[in-house]
Parts: sequence; structure tokens; C-alpha cells
Amino acid sequence: MADFEIKDLRVGVEGREILKGVSLQVNRGEVHAVMGPNGSGKSTLSNALMGHPSYQVLGGEVLLNGQSLLELQPDQRARLGLYLAFQYPIVVPGVTMANFLRTALNAQRGYDGKDKAKAIGPKEFRELLAEPMNTLRIDKSFLSRYVNEGFSGGEKKRAEILQMAVLRPTMALLDETDSGLDIDSIKYVSESINSMRGGELGILIITHYTRILKFIQPDYVHVLVNGQVVRSGGSEVADQLENTGYSEWVDEPAAAAAVAEEV
Ligand code: ADP
Ligand code: MG
Repeated sequence: MADFEIKDLRVGVEGREILKGVSLQVNRGEVHAVMGPNGSGKSTLSNALMGHPSYQVLGGEVLLNGQSLLELQPDQRARLGLYLAFQYPIVVPGVTMANFLRTALNAQRGYDGKDKAKAIGPKEFRELLAEPMNTLRIDKSFLSRYVNEGFSGGEKKRAEILQMAVLRPTMALLDETDSGLDIDSIKYVSESINSMRGGELGILIITHYTRILKFIQPDYVHVLVNGQVVRSGGSEVADQLENTGYSEWVDEPAAAAAVAEEV
């Protein structure tokens, strides 16, 4: 059995079936890319895996290290090692980045506000942040700002990867982390992800474009169209998409309209 198993997952949103039986297997140390045109169900997949309440699981199974996830709350899934970098990170006014990161980390360590021995110390916390903040070119001043408030698109995405670096998940879902990044940011983000790559960590890079895959070479690529995986293979699948786009599965006017919608 794989470390992370998605079996025949079917998910509906507002009564409409979006994912129509998706199966994927990711082992620790591997990087998988899920690519697909807009509206194919990529965010539905990432949100359903994390347990977003708007996404109804209609069937199938998801296992992380043999443990079934679908009945669990998002925080329980996170404690088991699952992480989601949002496509659209939300602003949390009144909560500083430092507070947010420390609280998330403490929750993971089982600190409930009582047993001080479990809480991360200030020095350890600073040391934990230093390397990823440096790689991601995140200025120290960010730590005293409210989560995502006034952050540019690229800054929000870098903050998502900083959270990942701090929380050290065993399975990371990165939903369009590349969108909204300028060419420098995409390098910093890729560098940070590549430095975490391997070992115990499995990564699912969810993306519309092949661009980020030039910096983070995936071991496997899956093409998701209309809620189904229509092709799986090695990194050569991304190279084919680079040339042909999704035209094999989606007719061009619809694809063009979807791109126009995104802009
Ligand atoms: P992708 O991430 O591949 O662009 P999504 O999973 O966001 O695709 O969307 C797939 C389909 O599900 C779209 O038709 C979209 O409108 C619908 N959908 C996704 N999330 C929601 C939601 N929260 N509410 C209503 N419809 C949604
Ligand atoms: Mg999406």
C-alpha cells in the first residue's frame, strides 16, 4: 500500500459531482504533479482531501499511512501530517504571522496551553524560521504583520510555503502555488520546496501550467480533466502538455474562455 492513497474519490459541490472517481498513490519522498485546465476539479481535490466542509465526499477512500482521513476534521488531518497550501490564501486580520505559526506549531506538538514543556521556546522558534525565511526571501517584518493582510499575491504564496517549512508535513498538497508568482519568487519557492523534498515528505503539486515543473522536476505527472485522471506518467507527460496543452481533451474555445476567465 502507498503512504498516501486516494481511491476512487468522488466529490460533489453544491449537488454537482465534480470529481468522478480519482485514484492516486503517492509515496514518501516522491513528487507528483496534478495538471489540468481550469475547472477540471484540482482545487476540489485539494479541498476535499483537507476536509473543507463545502465539498461533499460521495464515495471513495483516502488513506495516509494506512489511516483513513475522510471522517476526520481538518485539524486532525493536519496533525497526521497532511498540509494544504491554498490556491487563494485568506487574510486573518488581528493575527500576526508569528503568532499564527507558533500556535500552529504548538498545536501540532500537543501543547494545550497548560504543559509549558511542550511549547516551542522563542530561540528554537527563531532558529526554525531562519533558514526557510532566508530561502524564501521573506523579510523579518512579515512576522509582525497580520496573516496575508496587504500581502502581494507572491508574498501570500511564499507565506504558504513558510508554513509548510515550519510544520514539516509528511504529505503536502500545493494548490497552484505557482500562480501569482513572478519569476524571482518562483525560484525562491522552488528552492525552498526542493530543499524539503525527499525523505519522509510526499508532495502533490497541483498546477495549470508547466512552468513550476521546470524548477521542481516531478517524479510522476497526472492529468486531471473533467474530474477524472485521463493520463498518468513520468515528467515527459508535462513536456507533452507544454507542446499540446489540454487540446486533446478539451476543445479550444472552452479552454480559451477558461483562460480569459482567469485573467
Ligand atoms: P480547478 O481548481 O481545476 O480550476 P475547481 O475544483 O476549483 O477547479 O472547480 C471545479 C468545478 O467545481 C468548477 O465548475 C467550479 O465552479 C466548481 N466549484 C469548485 N469549488 C466550488 C465552490 N466552493 N462552490 C461552488 N462551486 C465550486
Ligand atoms: Mg483551482
